[in-house]
Amino acid sequence: MLDAVSKGFKAARNRLRGKAEITPEVVDEALRDIRVALLEADVEFGVVKRFIASVREKATGEVVDTKVESKKGAMKVSPADHFVKICHDELEALMGPVDTSLTFKAKGPTGIMMVGLQGSGKTTTAGKLANKLLAEGKKPLLVAADIYRPAAVEQLKVLGQRLGVPVYHDPNARPPQMCKAAFEQARAQHRDVVILDTAGRLAIDEDMMRELEEIKAGTEPDNILLVADAMIGQDAVKTAAEFDRRLSIDGFILTKLDGDARGGAALSIKEVTGKPIKFLGMGENLDKLEEFRPEGLAGRILG
Ligand code: GDP
Repeated sequence: MLDAVSKGFKAARNRLRGKAEITPEVVDEALRDIRVALLEADVEFGVVKRFIASVREKATGEVVDTKVESKKGAMKVSPADHFVKICHDELEALMGPVDTSLTFKAKGPTGIMMVGLQGSGKTTTAGKLANKLLAEGKKPLLVAADIYRPAAVEQLKVLGQRLGVPVYHDPNARPPQMCKAAFEQARAQHRDVVILDTAGRLAIDEDMMRELEEIKAGTEPDNILLVADAMIGQDAVKTAAEFDRRLSIDGFILTKLDGDARGGAALSIKEVTGKPIKFLGMGENLDKLEEFRPEGLAGRILG
């Protein structure tokens, strides 16, 4: 995951290794490696620019006390380590602050509305969330409201069966009515969280957005989570910004970070939209959902 970015940071560190002092010239060379790697990973251009400017300022701007206390007494941190620490802090700041919380109603079923483009991993992630909530002692109800992708309803039913979680679907209802009725069913059956798997298209389209707005207005979900495929970089970020504009989402779940995803979305999406990444999809299995930890991802990138 994020291998290319990681390689860029390592190359930058190697440039500084063994140097007694960080000169602006060396910092510039190191930043060039990082810049290329970030752009190759499809990190949004403005984000790359601001990140590089910020690291440059911190690495060259002030005379830094690189002495640290350790068990062996005072010791100097090498310029390479100091530079890596600056990068680590800036990466963390870029992706954070962390907020992996979900909002739960004190009374009555909590609503979680999953939105995103087709193929982003929405249905799979709805199953993963149900699995996580089950483990936390909740009683979820899954709702198969993606009626346009023929396999989605069946796929969710299979996931529900595997988890022992009921799946609500009504072939005769339009998605907004179906979602509303699902909350009635949840109340009647004492299910405390309703997870709506809504329809996605291959690209943002007006009919889809209107339908999602209608579902939102009819069910007033407590959480609207956008599922975005981390493999598609800047496009995922643009899509996220548009969904946020129309639906005012609460946060993101980035999927497919287990593969050789270039991963640019992970580094851009928070900065561009101001909304937090809540979870990462790390595989196809139902237990492959991780809470997002910016320090963890920064650590993985810097190796
Ligand atoms: P939807 O159209 O948004 O509902 O997408 P699906 O849930 O059907 O997922 C599309 C494909 O991505 C499926 O083959 C999933 O198994 C796969 N997928 C979903 N999440 C992940 C993930 O975190 N990692 C990997 N490797 N594959 C995933």
